[in-house]
Amino acid sequence: MENYDYIVVGAGSAGAAVAYRLSADPRNKVLLLEAGRASHPWSFIPVGSARLITNPAANWLYSAEPEANTNGRRIPVPRGKLLGGSSSINGMAFVRGQAQDFDTWAQMGNQGWSYEEVLPFFKRMESYEGGGDDRFRGRDGPLRVTDPPPKEPIFQALIKAAGEVGIPHNPDYNGASQQGIVMSQATIHRGRRQSTARAYLDPIRHRQNLRIETNALTERVRIEGTRCTGVKYSVGGEPREAAAREVVVCAGTINSPQLLELSGIGEPQRLRKLGIEVRQALPGVGENLRDHYAPRTRWLVGKRGITNNDRARGLGMVHQALRYALFRKGFLASVGAPMRAFVCSREGLEAPDLLLGWVPMLTQPGPKGPRIATQSGFTCYAHPMRPESKGHIHITSSDPQRPPAINFNFLSAPPDAELTVEAIRIARAIMTAPAMAPLQVSEIAPGTDRQTDDEIIDWVKSAAETTYHPVGTCKMGSDPMAVVDARLRVHGIEGLRVADASIMPTLTSGNTNAPSIMIGEKAADLVLKDAA
Ligand SMILES: Cc1cc2nc3c(=O)[nH]c(=O)nc-3n(C[C@H](O)[C@H](O)[C@H](O)COP(=O)(O)OP(=O)(O)OC[C@H]3O[C@@H](n4cnc5c(N)ncnc54)[C@H](O)[C@@H]3O)c2cc1C
Repeated sequence: MENYDYIVVGAGSAGAAVAYRLSADPRNKVLLLEAGRASHPWSFIPVGSARLITNPAANWLYSAEPEANTNGRRIPVPRGKLLGGSSSINGMAFVRGQAQDFDTWAQMGNQGWSYEEVLPFFKRMESYEGGGDDRFRGRDGPLRVTDPPPKEPIFQALIKAAGEVGIPHNPDYNGASQQGIVMSQATIHRGRRQSTARAYLDPIRHRQNLRIETNALTERVRIEGTRCTGVKYSVGGEPREAAAREVVVCAGTINSPQLLELSGIGEPQRLRKLGIEVRQALPGVGENLRDHYAPRTRWLVGKRGITNNDRARGLGMVHQALRYALFRKGFLASVGAPMRAFVCSREGLEAPDLLLGWVPMLTQPGPKGPRIATQSGFTCYAHPMRPESKGHIHITSSDPQRPPAINFNFLSAPPDAELTVEAIRIARAIMTAPAMAPLQVSEIAPGTDRQTDDEIIDWVKSAAETTYHPVGTCKMGSDPMAVVDARLRVHGIEGLRVADASIMPTLTSGNTNAPSIMIGEKAADLVLKDAA
């Protein structure tokens, strides 16, 4: 039996940050277990996310159960399965969320999670190379965050068009206010993806007190009485065990509740039915699943040479490949959705409730996932940022290799449908504003024949997918459905914490990588303070 001070399960956005901070003190012996591989060649190149989104070599490739409001479709749920986790395959947009998101968590009774209290962790994680205000931005953290390269005409037109419909330009949406249209900040540096594998793990591989084990699937946490004493895991099918005084589960929103249930922590009836001995009754494990159900509106662009479709054709792609190889520039080095707008669905709101994101390219379905379309255009996703619909994730077998069942219950809370329609109407207003006329933009989807709320929602049900932000399945709190307390300790079990996107009680306003890393940073701080 190997012995450690700390075992961290999952080397993703949060887990890498936890391991980095815990192993900074050479007296702490740390084991970091990752089910996936060490890296994948496409995980270094920004455009590689398009290749990894359907690649089983680096992706768990989950899919949701069919449900009424997806017209019976199985929505894809990609998750990174390699060092860096989902930060190694994601779209690289860097979005913290709003101060109100974290203040809400604190108001729900989670002491220590107000914006003022989490801001130091957001600052210490990053080296932001753009401007902005030092009260909000960090300059010497491990993760490099950059502004996109000089603005292209297509984005200038969008900024102007948004202005024409009353949406201002905001130079730093991770600063004092989120509201407005803006180029996406990115976890990209010198044309390379800044995953947490690169930013947090590469610099510490030499640490003697840290062991990083890849292809290591944690199958159960070991519980003796009410104390977690270590983990059972397997490498290439070979069983292993390791002991520690504390285990921090950072396996993400899908796998963290799976691991707790496999270990006997969850809703007792469900566990007994699968022949799993109940160690701790916690009915909230796997509940409170939230995600962004995001329709992609699609637009043709008549003006030649300004979309990535034009750049990706024939010799254009050769030029882009050379530009990338020689200078690490061009669209192969670009963030997935380089422009976004945080907007209010109606007047009088304190902060935006809708997100629109633009990809200057049209794609079409192909046999191996989305392919570059033959036509030229834009994709613009549009959705509410804090949806109220909640679903769940549960195991259906005691076999750790079997994927859990994922049910989102999209649009089950009525405001979500209303706000989705409003988001699409705002996308239409921007795309048809006078400033867009020179680009000769015309709507493909939902299509100008779909105008009423019902027509739009019918289309959403037939076409929307997520923006890959599942959270909430090991909710932090003190109510009966909470799984961890505000110090991220699993209720009723000593020596066991969960620290990843699954602990979010509500979805943050925007993308979820930055808040997941912040959770890892804060978790490490809590562990070290509690051990002192
Ligand atoms: C395709 C895609 C695009 C996205 N785009 C963006 C974006 O542009 N901007 C943004 O902010 N967010 C984006 N996100 C979301 C963001 O990346 C995630 O919210 C964030 O990475 C979640 O962090 P996490 O630590 O909770 O989980 P993860 O980063 O997923 O880490 C979990 C880790 O645990 C490992 N693991 C799981 N089970 C086990 C086990 N049993 N044993 C050992 N290891 C295990 C996994 O392999 C993985 O490495 C995107 C996500 C995806 C998938």
